[in-house]
Amino acid sequence: AKDRGKNNFQFYSAYMSQHAAKMLALESSLRRALEREELVLYYQGKVETRTGRITGVESLVRWQHPELGLLCPDQFIPLAEETGLIVPLSKWVLRQACMQICAWQRENLPPLTVAVNLSARQFTEDYLLEDTAQTLRELGMDPTLLELEITESMMMHNPERTIQILQGLKAMGIRIAIDDFGIGYSSLSHLRQFPIDIIKIDRSFIQDVPGDPADEAITEAIIAMGKSLKITVVAEGVEKIEQLQFLSDRSCEEIQGYFFSRPLPAEEFTKLLWKNLAP
Ligand code: C2E
Ligand code: CA
Ligand code: CA
Ligand code: CA
Repeated sequence: AKDRGKNNFQFYSAYMSQHAAKMLALESSLRRALEREELVLYYQGKVETRTGRITGVESLVRWQHPELGLLCPDQFIPLAEETGLIVPLSKWVLRQACMQICAWQRENLPPLTVAVNLSARQFTEDYLLEDTAQTLRELGMDPTLLELEITESMMMHNPERTIQILQGLKAMGIRIAIDDFGIGYSSLSHLRQFPIDIIKIDRSFIQDVPGDPADEAITEAIIAMGKSLKITVVAEGVEKIEQLQFLSDRSCEEIQGYFFSRPLPAEEFTKLLWKNLAP
């Protein structure tokens, strides 16, 4: 039996692809990263179109890898999801983001909302409600300052269950945003059934606005729909003044994007917040 185990191992290692080996190495270093606190949150402002005032932030995770440098979420979130490390990672993100909001409040800045991205894996787990409630309680944070961002595909995977979860979060006072809106498959009639507070128009539509008639029409339609359903509409990926002008002319409530600010580490974002207060 001992020999057979050895043979199996040789068989396995011979056929294990380089890719898998690399993933395995990344997995163990991500595990370590969580322990050694190599993860950092960056913050991007969400701005009221009419006034230019920062109303909230979106937290965006980065991994300060000791050898590879600063890694973007696309380089490690999929791995975290596959390996289950997304669970401790997400807990860390939520806690860190809420702690930062509380820190800004202590500095007597006007209250800011904080948006946290949820992963599909996290969304279906039972502990989401409990964990979130516990974090808010421990930090003594106002739940109405927390926004959770989910995508259409996460909602459509199991609509009944989604409605249940969202109602639970809403009951706590948390606000719900649909991220990357427009590229998924949710219909307007579907949308009505979900307790949604915010829609974020996907960057791909904003990219060619103004200019591309189809993208202009879609953007206008989403803004109009938001108004009639009393849902706040945020345009993502605003990089140019022409885009801002287009959105402002159509009374899109809020914008987010490089035009206003790139995602920044907390310290730099704090400076931006103080500057934003000045007239
Ligand atoms: P997202 O939620 O759609 O976040 C917006 C992404 O667009 C961010 O990329 C941001 O840096 C980028 N962005 C913002 N403004 C502009 C702009 O004007 N132009 C362009 N070209 N890009 C802009 P980032 O930080 O690389 O994040 C990528 C994705 O990773 C996020 O997309 C989100 O789905 C995911 N993610 C980030 N942080 C977390 C997290 O803490 N947990 C989970 N589960 N996912 C996260
Ligand atoms: Ca997001
Ligand atoms: Ca998005
Ligand atoms: Ca386009």
